[in-house]
Amino acid sequence: RPRVSAKLAAIAESATLAVDAKAKALKAAGRPVIGFGAGEPDFPTPAYIVEAAVAAAQDPANHRYTPAAGLPALREAIAAKTLRDSGYEVKPSSVLVTNGGKQAVYQAFAAIVDPGDEVLLPAPYWTTYPEAIRLAGGVPVEVFAGVEQGYLVSVEQLEAARTPKTKVLLFNSPSNPTGAVYSPEQTEAIGRWALEHGIWVVTDEIYEHLTYDDAVFTPIVRVVPELADTTIVLNGVAKTYAMTGWRVGWMIGPADVITAATNLQSHLTSNVANVSQRAAIAALQGDLSAVEEMRTAFDRRRRTIVEMLGQIDGVQVPTPEGAFYVYPSVEGLLGRTIRGVTPRTSAELATLILEQAEVAVVPGEAFGPSGYLRFSYALGDADLVEGISRVQALLAEAE
Ligand code: PLP
Repeated sequence: RPRVSAKLAAIAESATLAVDAKAKALKAAGRPVIGFGAGEPDFPTPAYIVEAAVAAAQDPANHRYTPAAGLPALREAIAAKTLRDSGYEVKPSSVLVTNGGKQAVYQAFAAIVDPGDEVLLPAPYWTTYPEAIRLAGGVPVEVFAGVEQGYLVSVEQLEAARTPKTKVLLFNSPSNPTGAVYSPEQTEAIGRWALEHGIWVVTDEIYEHLTYDDAVFTPIVRVVPELADTTIVLNGVAKTYAMTGWRVGWMIGPADVITAATNLQSHLTSNVANVSQRAAIAALQGDLSAVEEMRTAFDRRRRTIVEMLGQIDGVQVPTPEGAFYVYPSVEGLLGRTIRGVTPRTSAELATLILEQAEVAVVPGEAFGPSGYLRFSYALGDADLVEGISRVQALLAEAE
C-alpha cells in the first residue's frame, strides 16, 4: 500500500512558494536574481504595530493560550473594522481568528463542503483554492475569464457552469493573480445570482485596501445583504499592513459555520500566537495612513511595470486595478525561439527567464491555463526597473 495517503499525495507544492524558493536558492549561491514571485509587501510592518507587539510580549498575561477563536478584543476589533471598511454590522461571535488568511480558506471549505459538492472557481485563481476545495472533498469547477474580458467572469458564465451539485462560489476581488477588480454592479449581479440559486459565497477580501485609479472594492454582503447567512468572508492583516510573517487572518460567517470551523481549529492549531493577535488589534485600531503610503508606492510601481511590460513585442498587458500583481498574456511569445530555446508553455518561458535573465516570475500554470506570467510588483522601485529591463532585453531576442 502507498506510504503517503491518496489525499495528501494529490496536493501539489505551492507553485508561488516554489518559484520564490528557487529564486532565493540562486540568490544564496551568489546570483543576482530579482524576484517578482512572492506576493509579499517589501515594507516593514508599521512601527506602531511592532511597538504594540513588543509591549504585549513583555506582559506575562500574553504568554498563555487565548480562546481558540481568538482574543475577544481582537474579534471586537475585526467587527468594528468590518463596519468601518465594509459598511455592515457583524457580531464579534461571528468572527474566527485564524493563522493567516490561508487557514481561513481551508476552514471555510472544510466547514461547508461535502464530498462531491461542486465549487465554482473563477480562473485564473489563487493557487491555494483548488487544493483547499479538494482536501474538503469538493470538486473545483473552473470558470475561465481571459485577458479579453479583463479576467472578470460574467453571471452568464457562472450560470452555464451551475449544476444541481453546485454548492459554493469562490469570489476574490481584488484578485490574486490578475489584479482585476469587479465593479459594484458586477459584484451585486453575481451576489444576486448566488442568492437566487441558494449558492454559498466564499469571498476573499484580503486585498480590499489595494485598489487604484477609479476602481473601488465592493464587499459583496454590503450590496446583497440577504447573502449574510450563506457567505463566509475571508480576510487578514498580511497584505494591508505588511504583516505576512505575523500570521493573522480571520473568517466571518453565520453562527453554525463559525462554530464548526472553531471546533476544527480547536483540534488543529488552537489559537493564533497571542502576541500576533495583540499586534493585529493595534493594526486594526490604527488609522489607515500607513496603508495609504504603501498603496501609493504600489500604484507608482504598477504604472512603471505596466508601461515597461507593454513595450515587449508579444506581451499583452491589461492594466490591473487592484492587489499588487500584473498578469500579462505571453501567448504571442510561445513557439518563438529565444537564445536557442523555444518555449511552448508559460512554465517553460518562466524557466527561461529565470535562467537567462535571472528574474523570477510565476507561470500561469500555477493559477489555471498556460499562456500567462504573474509578476508581483511588491518590490523596490530600482529592482523593479532593473528586473523588467532584463526581461525586455531577453524577450527582444525572440525570433
Ligand atoms: N488570499 C489571497 C488571495 C492571497 O493572495 C493570500 C496570500 O497570498 C491569502 C489569502 C493568505 O494570506 P495569509 O495567509 O498570509 O494571510
